[in-house]
Amino acid sequence: MKETVSFSKDAANLFFHILTGCNLSCRHCYINPDQHGTHMLAIETIEAWLRLFARRNHAAHVIFLGGEPTLHPELSQAVHTARDFGYRSVTIDTNGYLFHDILHKIAPEDIDYFSFSLDGATAAVNDRIRGDGSFQHCTDGIRSAVSRGFHTSLIYTVSQENIHELPLMPTFLAELGVKRFFIQVLGLRGQSAGVNHRDSRVSRTNWLQVVPSTAETAADLGIITVYPKVFLELDEPFECAGRVADNYFVFPNGRVYRCPLCEDYPIHSLCIEENQLISAGPINEKDLFALDIPEGCVMNKLIQPENLTYDDQGAPEYKIACCLLKEELRPK
Ligand code: SF4
Ligand code: SF4
Repeated sequence: MKETVSFSKDAANLFFHILTGCNLSCRHCYINPDQHGTHMLAIETIEAWLRLFARRNHAAHVIFLGGEPTLHPELSQAVHTARDFGYRSVTIDTNGYLFHDILHKIAPEDIDYFSFSLDGATAAVNDRIRGDGSFQHCTDGIRSAVSRGFHTSLIYTVSQENIHELPLMPTFLAELGVKRFFIQVLGLRGQSAGVNHRDSRVSRTNWLQVVPSTAETAADLGIITVYPKVFLELDEPFECAGRVADNYFVFPNGRVYRCPLCEDYPIHSLCIEENQLISAGPINEKDLFALDIPEGCVMNKLIQPENLTYDDQGAPEYKIACCLLKEELRPK
């Protein structure tokens, strides 16, 4: 089975937002145009930035995303350039609309995965979150990609609105021919940081009841399944990917973050100026990664403290794991 974006310790991933525009307006969209701009990068800039990160880490995986990256008319050229530069794997994250005839402009050997986003096993649940017609478009897109020989994966962002349909997904994905399943926790950034969405996250009890067992079922059906633990027992080891991994979240305005939970704030640790990667001044996200707190993830405590509970002595009852370090279940 092919390897693609890696959520393990020592991983190196380039999450390359080549634009922020999108044809959908999902309720939990994490894009924040105020922080990351609204423009589409020129293909020359995309290639220059791909070169920049390829020089920095030859073993990195690249994931093209947006907004909706297939809205970029020269995405196929960007894919070919990433291959030429020797990236370890190339993935396109898409909402499934597959604009600009992308399935006909690249071949299955040009790309490791098309990664589709779907937030329900039925149109009723998915479309309430992602918009009318999006379930049909996404599943049609998956079928088209599979029939043309592409490997496909699927991202499911778990919330109160759709956790009840998560157990339906393994069988559905096996029928569609999806090879890899990413279960994602709803993070409070972009749209989902708004007051209307703060109660969309699932409780610890609900998460533990549903997510690990669904992941096991998917793996038993032959699908590689990746999910975040989210809630760690106090004696379980905690690590911050900002310290132990090599992730870059690159935006069209040149901001480069090492942690996605920081993306709503101007605390990026790097930025690209004149096609050079330079360190941003203090105080930035790196100063937060250096803090050790009993609650685990510092950014979680700062922006979504409702995830935590404390005992009578004021000690946390569990820790919150890094959202970038995940469990991976491989089929036996
Ligand atoms: S979550 Fe993705 S598909 Fe949905 S509006 Fe945002 S960028 Fe578009
Ligand atoms: S999510 Fe938390 S633990 Fe992970 S990189 Fe960000 S600050 Fe560190």
